[in-house]
Amino acid sequence: MTEKSYDVLVIGLGGVGSAACRSLAAAGHRVLGVERFGRVHDLGASHGESRGVWQAYFMGPGYVPFLRRAYALWSDLEEESGEHLFHRTGGLCLGPSDGELVPAARASAEQTGLTHEVLSADEVHARYPQFTPDSDDVAVFDPDSGFVQPEQTVRVQLELAEKHGATLHFHERVLSVTEDARGAVVRTDRDTYHVGHVVVGAGCWAPELLPESVLPVQVLRKVMLWFEPEGTADDFLPGRFPYWIWEGDGMIGYGHPGANGLHGGVKAGVHSGGTPTDPDLVDRYVEQREVAEIQDFLRTRIPRLGAGRYRRSAVCLYDNTPDQAFVIGPTSEHGRIVAAAGTSGHAFKFLPAIGEAVGQLVTDGRASQDLSLFDPRRFRDAQAAPAAG
Ligand SMILES: Cc1cc2nc3c(=O)[nH]c(=O)nc-3n(C[C@H](O)[C@H](O)[C@H](O)COP(=O)(O)OP(=O)(O)OC[C@H]3O[C@@H](n4cnc5c(N)ncnc54)[C@H](O)[C@@H]3O)c2cc1C
Repeated sequence: MTEKSYDVLVIGLGGVGSAACRSLAAAGHRVLGVERFGRVHDLGASHGESRGVWQAYFMGPGYVPFLRRAYALWSDLEEESGEHLFHRTGGLCLGPSDGELVPAARASAEQTGLTHEVLSADEVHARYPQFTPDSDDVAVFDPDSGFVQPEQTVRVQLELAEKHGATLHFHERVLSVTEDARGAVVRTDRDTYHVGHVVVGAGCWAPELLPESVLPVQVLRKVMLWFEPEGTADDFLPGRFPYWIWEGDGMIGYGHPGANGLHGGVKAGVHSGGTPTDPDLVDRYVEQREVAEIQDFLRTRIPRLGAGRYRRSAVCLYDNTPDQAFVIGPTSEHGRIVAAAGTSGHAFKFLPAIGEAVGQLVTDGRASQDLSLFDPRRFRDAQAAPAAG
């Protein structure tokens, strides 16, 4: 048994866990973070050089207040770390006006008074000649959109957590979590810890530690690809090329400007779909047909990228809940075990706000932001509700 005592143990030091550790340590808790792999790794969901950030959100207006808070906290994170994290490139959400994405992005912007523009296909092409939308497509332009870099963000959050006194253990795997009225007990492959609270930020592996009624997650294998554009490559750098997400041909594609200059190429991927997988057995080999799928999507929409040379790829994981909303909140009878998981492939932009909310839940038992969208009881309650008759 360990000699040192901690108030809070955070399981997983990826995007969510590193944000939680920083907030909890900054609030004065004695924090232990436990990660089964190394510091900033590429086996979970927080790697691949860029993550899109925006407020005119295609998931709907309910997310916007939490996003506003995240925006304020990204600035705090930059100030505290002294590093430039959030690259504002502007963002385009494209697709049919009666589709899934554009109406939700419009509603988010209009109902919450965000600065935005609605652009026709011709207006998009005039502003960004790299894009050739179909005449049926419309776009919502969010000037405050952009990207952050996941590896840098996780590193910075971990460094700040340590600066505030957190202890971080790598290559230590949590095997089980239990609670009683006095606290929680965490058993790992190295030790047993008795703590006041536990935060489960274990990403795609969180279902091993939490009941399915709280976290009914499907883990999906996702592919990120990088292409070398045809012609003047500078046209695909931040400043000239926005973050984009596009609904069309029954799928949702997305892409980011060259995040590290153009050395590694310009990123694109498919947000919709994905192959169900076990996170420990996921196939990390990317097949030619997966490259061809996104090239076909790009060919008519961003032709210079669609015809560009394929450079490289990486496999990443989504942990999708049935409604694709996150699971954030206490999950156990005495409230000692707090979940921050089920992030469904879209939580990176929220990370500082998730960290803050988790910190408040542990400290005060409640969060200043409305977390009802992410209530861990919602799936269990839905199952328990009598069928409409
Ligand atoms: C291809 C792709 C594109 C994306 N694009 C965007 C985007 O544009 N914008 C956006 O906002 N979001 C995006 N996301 C989503 C975002 O990246 C994730 O929601 C976020 O990174 C999830 O962080 P996490 O901490 O839950 O998971 P992870 O970063 O995977 O962290 C979980 C950690 O827990 C550790 N762990 C697991 N089990 C244990 C255990 N038993 N003991 C100890 N440690 C354990 C793991 O090793 C891992 O380090 C994307 C995701 C992917 C995969």
